[in-house]
Amino acid sequence: MKKIAVITSGGDAPGMNAAVRAVVRAAIARGVDCYGFHHGYRGIIAEEIVLLESKDVSGIISQGGTILRTARSDEFRSPAGRQQAIEILRENEIEGLVVIGGDGSLTGARRLYEEFGFPVMGVPGSIDNDIAGTDFSIGFDTAVNTALEAIDKVRDTAYSHERVFVIEVMGRANGFIAVEVALSGGAEAVLVPEVPFSLQEICDNLRKSRAKGKRSSILVVAEGAARASDIKQFIHKNTGFEARYLVLGHMQRGGSPTSFDRVLALRLGSFAANRLISGYSGEMVGLEGGKLVSHPLSYVLGTTRTIDPEKLFLVEVLAK
Ligand code: ADP
Repeated sequence: MKKIAVITSGGDAPGMNAAVRAVVRAAIARGVDCYGFHHGYRGIIAEEIVLLESKDVSGIISQGGTILRTARSDEFRSPAGRQQAIEILRENEIEGLVVIGGDGSLTGARRLYEEFGFPVMGVPGSIDNDIAGTDFSIGFDTAVNTALEAIDKVRDTAYSHERVFVIEVMGRANGFIAVEVALSGGAEAVLVPEVPFSLQEICDNLRKSRAKGKRSSILVVAEGAARASDIKQFIHKNTGFEARYLVLGHMQRGGSPTSFDRVLALRLGSFAANRLISGYSGEMVGLEGGKLVSHPLSYVLGTTRTIDPEKLFLVEVLAK
């Protein structure tokens, strides 16, 4: 291989830049030129191609977001759009593509591989951590720490005013961020989309806590489970306790990546480039039990990552 390319696609995640840096420099170390397309699959179709030299990825390791920009492309979802993309890749003599992104982006990579036999290598980049085949996806640790910082601050005011605070974190289809910050933030309860919950029971537990002398409480809710505003209202109506809510929203996506996310991204990016250049394809790299691994995209996309019930149970036990 003489020429590969890299894209970031779908939702941005802190640490994507570190991954791009690693892909570029690992390729250069193997004597391979690395190109970047701006705006993910949309940019491939529009031929937004640039040669990425070592200096182009200097000073980006600490930056959130992605210097390659990201986008969603409906065109690429159609066979005609993908045909166009493959033609652009071939015209530019690109022999392999590293795709950094979430489930959707990896599905796009799988299509290029299965429909055209085009060499691809996926890198899991998603704050949601919902991608199978890796214990962590790039950006999750940073998002969790950003949410935790906010929760710690809210705890101070919840304590002083003796209030219940309902905090809504990201996670439309899953509660990975919610469970992690509920544990590390010492929350009373966590509501996730995967597990049914009873608001009545939550109110009962809050009453019991008050009876035992606990004057303030934090509840964490994943955005896909319920709206924090509705929960706050329900709690106030049913218990009479003063309650407030806070929706953390997009602040969880941004910011400088944690050391964990940077090292993860550097390892995965470098591993992905090296495997692709060595002739492996149709896979996604990951980290399992602290070790670098690579799984077929068909396995990754055909497997659902589930919340660890032990962690959910721990939130409950430690709140008592
Ligand atoms: P994420 O990668 O964060 O999950 P999306 O689900 O929005 O984000 O996917 C990003 C892009 O990947 C889409 O805009 C589209 O171009 C491509 N993509 C997603 N799903 C498919 C699919 N089923 N077939 C082809 N391309 C897809």
